[in-house]
Amino acid sequence: MATLEQEDPQAYEILNGEMRRQLEGIELIPSENYVSEAILEIMGSIFTNKYSEGYPGKRYYGGQEFTDKIENLAIERAKELFGAEHVNVQPYSGSPANAAVYFGLLNYGDTVMGLKLDHGGHITHGLPISFSGKSYKFVQYEVEKETGRLNYDKIRELARQCKPKMIVCGYTAYPPEVDWKAFRSICDEVNAIAFADISHTAGMIAGGALQNPVPYFDVVMTTTHKTLRGPRGAIIMCKEKYAKDIDRAVFPGLQGGPHEHQIAAKAVCFKEALEPGFKEYAEQIIKNAKALAEELKKYGFTLISGGTETHLILIDLTNKNIPGKEAQAVLDQVGITLNKNTVPFDPRSPFDPSGIRLGTPAVTTRGFREPEMKLIAKWLNEVLSAPKDETVLKRVKEEVVATCKKFPVPGIKI
Ligand SMILES: *Cc1c(COP(=O)(O)O)cnc(C)c1O
Repeated sequence: MATLEQEDPQAYEILNGEMRRQLEGIELIPSENYVSEAILEIMGSIFTNKYSEGYPGKRYYGGQEFTDKIENLAIERAKELFGAEHVNVQPYSGSPANAAVYFGLLNYGDTVMGLKLDHGGHITHGLPISFSGKSYKFVQYEVEKETGRLNYDKIRELARQCKPKMIVCGYTAYPPEVDWKAFRSICDEVNAIAFADISHTAGMIAGGALQNPVPYFDVVMTTTHKTLRGPRGAIIMCKEKYAKDIDRAVFPGLQGGPHEHQIAAKAVCFKEALEPGFKEYAEQIIKNAKALAEELKKYGFTLISGGTETHLILIDLTNKNIPGKEAQAVLDQVGITLNKNTVPFDPRSPFDPSGIRLGTPAVTTRGFREPEMKLIAKWLNEVLSAPKDETVLKRVKEEVVATCKKFPVPGIKI
């Protein structure tokens, strides 16, 4: 970074601060990860200079020999990784990709079913103030109050009543595994398009640690930067029959020039995910999450749905007498990053909800295993039981930094 340091010391200084934060802290935000140095290299490459509106072989500008090659490479690898018939690798990120799926396959005002935001859905799954809720008639399903889980019989009943044109499955804060076959059968019964948003779980699906919906579903979207451990971005996979509609919706429907440096990095990400080591990473994410969940339960934490079957844990802090916002802030002070989150049927507001959400993808990439999960649970308990005790906070912070020193982060040398 010597050139940057010399040319723009102000920006360099800020970058350096973020590097230190990432290196010395424990990252438990379940949608975050650390990409490899190879991905960092190609993302920071001259592919960012190129305009390439259109698709490989059908571009609007000249000079596309290498952009065509790299985009085709990304497409072929994604097809192999997930077993997809058709892949569009151009979406800038998950939200624009979901917009493209709706825009391509629905008409404004069509009925769609999605999980409510405060029950684990995403803002693009029908939140009234998002484009999704404003443009389509979203009917929101919920999880069960007693179990925190989806009740597939109730979802089927709701689908029979509202006759949706599409059902959105796949979530942002749902710890159990999703039963894709149950959703497929519901969609078949009411003749709805089956759409899976696997943004959070794509890495475990690619690594064979969770069931893959791609063979059964009409359309599947995933971000590439969460458990899949690639650059920020997204891809849409679909059956051949929807390919034209999806491609037209992405370009020229919603986007202009694709970000080829990002697409190039997606190609590298898919190669990494096809390697044997990725399977081990995918399985370890879940082992770590289960180990962390068990430890947290020993300390009396209330886990929504009783634990986890994925990478993600949702804690209701009501019995610990500390709201989610304060928990997030005090953990930030000791270098443990996670996010405040609503829990299903939360009596508090989304700005200061009852819960926190955490996950193991980033720490697993970094090399943390079951012994470190025990430490994390211990620290969470210590800090959240005595959030105003400066002695505890200071000691935990020191222990966090000392542990992090043993686990390097790719791309950070300071
Ligand atoms: C993260 C996420 C998205 C959106 O991704 P962005 O890249 O943040 O726009 C969409 N759906 C789900 C389920 C997600 O978890």
